[in-house]
Amino acid sequence: MPFLSSCCPAAGFCDSLVSGVTEAGVAGMQTVDSIIIGGGVVGLAVAAELARRFPGRSVVLLERNSACGQETSSRSSEVIHAGIYYDAGSLRARLCVEGKTLLYQFCRRWDIPHRRIGKLIVAKSPDEADTLTDLMNRGRINGVDDLELLDRRQVQALEPHVKAISAVWSPTTGIIDSHCLTARLAWCAAQQGATVACRHEVIGIDRAADGYAVRFYGPDGTKDDLHSSWVVNCAGLGAEPIAAYAGIDTAGAGYRLYYCKGEYFRIPMSKGHLVEHLVYPPPYKDLLGLGIHVTKSLDGMTKLGPNAFYVDGLDYDVDPGHALEFYDGIKDYLPFLSRDDLQPDTAGIRPKLQAPDEPARDFIIRHEADKGLPGFINLIGIESPGLTSCLAIGNMVAAMIEL
Ligand SMILES: Cc1cc2nc3c(=O)[nH]c(=O)nc-3n(C[C@H](O)[C@H](O)[C@H](O)COP(=O)(O)OP(=O)(O)OC[C@H]3O[C@@H](n4cnc5c(N)ncnc54)[C@H](O)[C@@H]3O)c2cc1C
Repeated sequence: MPFLSSCCPAAGFCDSLVSGVTEAGVAGMQTVDSIIIGGGVVGLAVAAELARRFPGRSVVLLERNSACGQETSSRSSEVIHAGIYYDAGSLRARLCVEGKTLLYQFCRRWDIPHRRIGKLIVAKSPDEADTLTDLMNRGRINGVDDLELLDRRQVQALEPHVKAISAVWSPTTGIIDSHCLTARLAWCAAQQGATVACRHEVIGIDRAADGYAVRFYGPDGTKDDLHSSWVVNCAGLGAEPIAAYAGIDTAGAGYRLYYCKGEYFRIPMSKGHLVEHLVYPPPYKDLLGLGIHVTKSLDGMTKLGPNAFYVDGLDYDVDPGHALEFYDGIKDYLPFLSRDDLQPDTAGIRPKLQAPDEPARDFIIRHEADKGLPGFINLIGIESPGLTSCLAIGNMVAAMIEL
């Protein structure tokens, strides 16, 4: 997947933001004040916030790929979530609600393409309609106080081609160009003085006199290391091995990561325009994701997805045979679609903390001082709504650090 989407209206602008940022290296550096591992939206938000709060302190971000944001951050639904679904009091609920507000402000400030498009969670049967009331209540407890319950007529007025007997309307759910967000975060981090070093793959962490020696392969393949008293693990799908390098028994600590793939199928423009908003089914307890739903992108594309199934490795192919499962998932509420309308599109992989059949887990964001690792902060299991939450996560982590 390209780092910047060719359809991004600000692609040229984003390109210019990134040039000179991601080629930076750490040659000549021996000791810095903080090291962030991982250049997705979360690591970049942490780096940008640290550099902003602590001017004059050295912040280095190490990213293994040749550009930032090439893994989960560029393979999502690009939805700015409202914060409805997550357990009350969880980090996912709190950081999503805080993060949504911060992200809309950030988008306005930096002209990042986004749209507050709104979302419907639709019920097709009386049983499903009953679950919508619970969802409204959960949203309110989480601080999402602008939800509305719509009847059939009101749903029809908003979405004449969607079949539903009622729906929850979330007006603050939106969509964002995640590629431009990544580029702008990298630029902000670099502007504040952070070094964003791509093609630096972390391969080990040793305890050193005053913190940690982080070992990595540099751009030319040679091994090197960098010392710091603060290390923040934002390595996404690679976060479990990073925690293990620091000496944590990841299985014992409950930090084992399971990869859970999500595929998308696109539908033709001629039918995509029949749906204007994001349209979701109600979430079922046994679902690993939010159910197969309609996502809209800023270039006008309409996609269905993502599904959710556990995989062993990082394989982003979409199985065309899964079109039937998708069609079965949406045909009752999008009756104008036929199976042949579905074409394989992209896929992403969630770093889940729960094994198959286990209940959902919260984000882990933790200073590991009590594990004998002062200055080492782990971020593990940052799946959805990690994109929405990235700026709130950046604030939370920066507040844990004293430079
Ligand atoms: C299918 C799908 C749909 C989603 N939809 C949404 C959505 O609509 N809204 C939302 O809010 N969230 C969504 N999410 C979740 C969101 O995309 C993630 O939570 C977010 O992108 C996580 O960002 P990150 O920076 O933690 O991880 P990543 O983007 O994966 O970044 C981690 C980085 O660490 C680097 N790394 C790993 N190991 C090493 C190493 N050893 N050395 C150096 N670098 C390393 C990787 O290369 C990578 O760039 C979705 C996720 C998926 C999979």
